[in-house]
Amino acid sequence: AVVTRFAPSPTGSLHIGGARTALFNYLYAKGRNGKFLVRVEDTDRERSTDEAVKAIFDGLSWLELFADEEPVFQYSRADRHREVVNELLERGGAYRDFTSAEETGRLRDLAKAERRTFESPWRDRAPTVDDLDQPHVVRFRRPLPGNVTVEDEVQGTVSWANDDLDDLVLLRSDGAPTYNLAVVVDDHDMGVTHVIRGDDHLNNAARQSLIYDALGWTRPSFAHIPLIHGPDGAKLSKRHGAQAVHEYAEMGYLPEAMRNYLARLGWAHGDDELFNDAQALEWFDLAGVGKAPARLDFDKLAHVNAHWIRLADDDRLAKMTLDVHLARGHALRPDDEARLLRAMPFIKDRAKTVLELADQTAFALKVRPLAIYEKALPMLTGESGERIGRLRDRLKLFASWDVFALEAELKVFADEEAVGFGKIGPAVRAALTGDGVSPDIAKTLAALGREESLGRLDDALQ
Ligand code: GLU
Repeated sequence: AVVTRFAPSPTGSLHIGGARTALFNYLYAKGRNGKFLVRVEDTDRERSTDEAVKAIFDGLSWLELFADEEPVFQYSRADRHREVVNELLERGGAYRDFTSAEETGRLRDLAKAERRTFESPWRDRAPTVDDLDQPHVVRFRRPLPGNVTVEDEVQGTVSWANDDLDDLVLLRSDGAPTYNLAVVVDDHDMGVTHVIRGDDHLNNAARQSLIYDALGWTRPSFAHIPLIHGPDGAKLSKRHGAQAVHEYAEMGYLPEAMRNYLARLGWAHGDDELFNDAQALEWFDLAGVGKAPARLDFDKLAHVNAHWIRLADDDRLAKMTLDVHLARGHALRPDDEARLLRAMPFIKDRAKTVLELADQTAFALKVRPLAIYEKALPMLTGESGERIGRLRDRLKLFASWDVFALEAELKVFADEEAVGFGKIGPAVRAALTGDGVSPDIAKTLAALGREESLGRLDDALQ
């Protein structure tokens, strides 16, 4: 069975690049009845923080990418990593290197100047019993000569001359396991069959493959996916705007829209732009992952989000929208959610984000009496004011408050008054919302409800 994993280093929040890696791993495994696992690579004790661990899990749960098992924390497995190094030492696949750090630096510089790969003098030198007490690192003894070839599911066949890779350190002098060792041991022990990650790790795949081989373990399949670039084609960075997943949540993107959009970043299924989770699970494969870096496209993301807002439950959107109003300082009243819920069908077709839903529903949450914009005031007095008064009186007798009935009633009224609705609309809108923009009048009335609408009209015509 397929087992994939997402293996973030907890040094910051979950970025969209990481989120996409997690999503690809999730889709690949779950679409094949496999398991999706999460491993926190917290071996870098200086840079790993609890806040980052929390931020990453928060990001994954927001995206609803849940692991099938408890997460593995890499640092807690250090004893196991050391055990495997001992096994390698016994097999001759690793050796102890007593060269001091300074001397290693010197030998490295020398090798560089002579354009050859650095070799430790201890690669072919047996330590004495006395040596063993001295501080040392443990290095991998790569097979020489030879090549290592990775059949990458995205990059194709990639080969390295072993000679070009140096004997990498497996254990530091304080006994701490290094990244490449820990990844191999953990992936093996977790039963990972497919390693899907950013192509910045392609060179590590060569080193890791050699370690698998030395241990007699089966290598996983590798798929190194191109990184995400900004709209200008440059590597994604701060200046491109939001990078962390939580920022997208705060900007009012829906998790299902993020999943849909991220799935399309670097992977394609024909021309399909909009698809749901079931389709993504069915369609996702590594053959559809391109070799060129995907470009972030905020317009596309907005388009995808608008689609998912249209499909979302009004209830859920009303709750999310209310949260935005509250965060903006709105003081909660008992019927706020009901008002938003009534407004939702009329505005959700036009909003690209939940923030826009909040902008466009602000009129519904206003507290009477409304402040009406200056320019509209003359429309509410004199002849025009009288006309709005007649409309109000008519609406007071109007029992049904359904949007279609209201629309018909407004038409009849305009006909009777023998004016185009353009003459009435702006004044009514100003009275109902205080503003010059809102959904059309019938929708605005329906969203506000009978009592609030009539109350606002009364206030405005005082
Ligand atoms: N912890 C590594 C990173 O965050 C990923 C390692 C891997 O996926 O093998 O870049």
